[in-house]
Amino acid sequence: MPSTDTVVIGAGHAGLAMSRCLADRDVRHVVLDRGCVGERWRTARWDSFRLLTPNWLSRLPGWRYTGPDPDGFMSAGEFVGYLSDYARSFDAPVHAHTVVRRVERAGDGFSVHTDDAVWSARSVVIATGYHSRAKVPQLATGLATDIAQLTAAGYRSSSSLPDGGVLVVGCSASGVQIAHELAVAGRPVVLAAGGHTRLPRRYRGRDIVWWLDRIGSLERTIDQVPDPAGARAEPSLQLAGTARGRGLDLDVLRRSGVRTVGRLRALDGATARFADDLPDTVGAAQRRLDRLLAEIDAYAAATPGAAAGLPDPPPVIAVPADPSRIDLRLAGISAVVWATGYRPWYPWLKVPVLDAAGRIRHHRGVTAVPGLYAIGLRFQHRRSSTFVDGARHDAAYLADKIAADRAVRVGVCGGLL
Ligand SMILES: Cc1cc2nc3c(=O)[nH]c(=O)nc-3n(C[C@H](O)[C@H](O)[C@H](O)COP(=O)(O)OP(=O)(O)OC[C@H]3O[C@@H](n4cnc5c(N)ncnc54)[C@H](O)[C@@H]3O)c2cc1C
Repeated sequence: MPSTDTVVIGAGHAGLAMSRCLADRDVRHVVLDRGCVGERWRTARWDSFRLLTPNWLSRLPGWRYTGPDPDGFMSAGEFVGYLSDYARSFDAPVHAHTVVRRVERAGDGFSVHTDDAVWSARSVVIATGYHSRAKVPQLATGLATDIAQLTAAGYRSSSSLPDGGVLVVGCSASGVQIAHELAVAGRPVVLAAGGHTRLPRRYRGRDIVWWLDRIGSLERTIDQVPDPAGARAEPSLQLAGTARGRGLDLDVLRRSGVRTVGRLRALDGATARFADDLPDTVGAAQRRLDRLLAEIDAYAAATPGAAAGLPDPPPVIAVPADPSRIDLRLAGISAVVWATGYRPWYPWLKVPVLDAAGRIRHHRGVTAVPGLYAIGLRFQHRRSSTFVDGARHDAAYLADKIAADRAVRVGVCGGLL
C-alpha cells in the first residue's frame, strides 16, 4: 500500500495550487486525477470557449500570467497550457489517469482507493471541482425523445447540434454565450431566462472584473456578507471573455435574434411552458447592477485616477411580451441545451461530511473530520474562492493547517508517522 502524508484529489487549478503550497511547506503528497492536468478545461468546455476572467486574474501560488496580453481572455486550450506549465514549474507529483473510487477513514488517516492502488494518507484534500456535474432540472425527463437534449458541458459548437432551432435554458455565462453563438450561426434561438447577475464587460474605461477586484467585491469573505446561504447561491456572472464593452446582456442577445422568455417551468413532450417572471427577473438583475455601479462610482470618486472614462451604464433592458407556452416542434426547435448550472458530486466519499444537498460541510475548507479538507468550493472563504484567482488564499490556509498538524506529529513522535 503506497503511503504519503497528503493525497490531493483533482489536478485542476485548485489541486495544483494546493500541491504548490504543500511543496513549499515540504509536505509529502500526491495529486491524483482521473484525467490529465486541467481535465475539465480539456473535456467540459465548448470549442470557442474563452475564460471570462482576464488573463492577469489567473494568479496561482508562485505563478502568474506573463504573456503579451494581460487584459485578454485565454481559450480553454491556452488555459490547459498555462496549468500544465505551472505543474511542470514545481514538478507537481501528479498521477494522471488515476480515478479515485473510494475515500474512507482508516485509523488516524484515510484510505484512498484507486483502480490500481490503495493510498494511505494522514490528510486528504478534495479538489474535484465545485462544477463537477451539470445540474439538469427534473422536468427534463418530460421532453419528447425526438428533440435532442444536452448540457452546456456537453455542447461543442453549433455544427454539433441537429439542424433547426435551439431552446437554451439558463442565462448566466454559459447560457448567454451559447445562445449568442447559435444565433450568430443562423439558428433560431429561444432563451429561457432565470435569475442572473447582469454585468457590462467594461465600465468607466476598465474591465468590470478590474473594478470588482478594486472595490474588494471578490475578496469579501463569507463572514462579511449578511446572508451567507444566499451568497453561496448567487447566480454566476453573466459575462463572456470578449473585449466587447457592452458584454452579452439580454438586449444584445435580442438584437442578435435571440427570443427571450421567462423561466422554463414545465415540459410535456414538445410543449414548453414558461413562467411570466421575465420582468421580475430582469428588474432584479438591474437593481443588483445599479447597486454595483453605484459602489464603483463611489470608489472612483474617492480614488483619483481609478476611472479611465465617464460613467457609461448599459441601457435598461426592454422586456418583450413573452409567450407562456411554445410548441417546440411547431417552432422548429430540435434541441434543448441545459445551461442550468452545476452541482458538486462525491459518490466516492465514504466519510460523513456531506449535508442533505450533497455539499461538503466545512469552514474555510476544513471539515469536522480531522485531516479532511476541500478546496474550490463556492464562497469557500472569499467570493473569489471558486475563481482561478481565489484558490491561492485557500490553498495557503489549508497547507498551513496540514503542515502544522504534521509538525505536531513530528514533535510528539520524534519522526513522521
Ligand atoms: C463553464 C465554466 C466557465 C468558467 N470560467 C471561469 C473563468 O473564466 N475564470 C475563473 O476564474 N473561473 C471560471 N470557472 C470557475 C472555476 O474556475 C472552474 O470551475 C474550475 O475548473 C474549477 O477548478 P477546480 O480545480 O476547483 O476543479 P476542476 O477544474 O473541475 O478540476 C477537478 C479535477 O478533479 C478531477 N476529478 C474529479 N473526480 C475525480 C475522481 N473521482 N478521481 C480523480 N480525479 C477526479 C477532474 O478530472 C478534474 O481535473 C468556470 C466554470 C465553468 C463551469
